[in-house]
Amino acid sequence: MSDIGTRLADIRGAIARACQGCGRDPSSVALVAVSKFHPASALQEAYEAGQREFGESYAQELVEKAEQLAHLPDIRWHFIGALQRNKAKFVVPHVHLLETVASVRLAEALEQRAQALSRTVDVLLQVNVGGEAQKSGCCAEEAAALLEQLDAFPSLRVRGLMTLPPFELEPEDTRTYFRALRTLRDRLGGPARLPHLSMGMSHDFEVAIAEGATIVRVGTAIFGDRAAPR
Ligand SMILES: *Cc1c(COP(=O)(O)O)cnc(C)c1O
Repeated sequence: MSDIGTRLADIRGAIARACQGCGRDPSSVALVAVSKFHPASALQEAYEAGQREFGESYAQELVEKAEQLAHLPDIRWHFIGALQRNKAKFVVPHVHLLETVASVRLAEALEQRAQALSRTVDVLLQVNVGGEAQKSGCCAEEAAALLEQLDAFPSLRVRGLMTLPPFELEPEDTRTYFRALRTLRDRLGGPARLPHLSMGMSHDFEVAIAEGATIVRVGTAIFGDRAAPR
């Protein structure tokens, strides 16, 4: 098996153990392989090891890879970065789940592109539960009103909440943010209205699973270190 294949198997094992530890079914947690800054060949390797969902943070990079890997028909792209409205048109044709919607203005741009392609776009509302000034996402207090506004877009379907909490050296220290996202989801109508919670990365996905994550976004632990942002 390739290194990437071995690491993927390790992560899947760790996800299964984390699920066992809190009485959840491992199939209730989707693993998104975060592939930003890694070449298409690395994604191909992960695909051959059974991985289907990939996460990208930059519109142009997602489009390039989607084109390079167009021969893999069931590959699914998650967009997990900050999306400028003028880039919506590039991302919408490829995206399976757009995880970072936090404004009506972006929703308008997405709606327009979705209508042009006669498709529905599944999105997550990104919430800045840590309240850090430099992080994207709406604040928890705005979430209910924003969700209602997003629900009015006929071609967008809000499937849940996503968060990127402050970096903590100790994985255990992120638990409070993950719990805050789940509590917010439960206040906003629970899993029937918002089935997905996207939270947890390489060093803290086990904690996120214990707190109810249905999507974990794991990059470094699968693909190794990233080159500097371009
Ligand atoms: C890069 C990134 C990840 C993956 O982080 P790792 O620590 O490499 O697992 C997850 N989520 C978002 C939003 C990211 O930008």
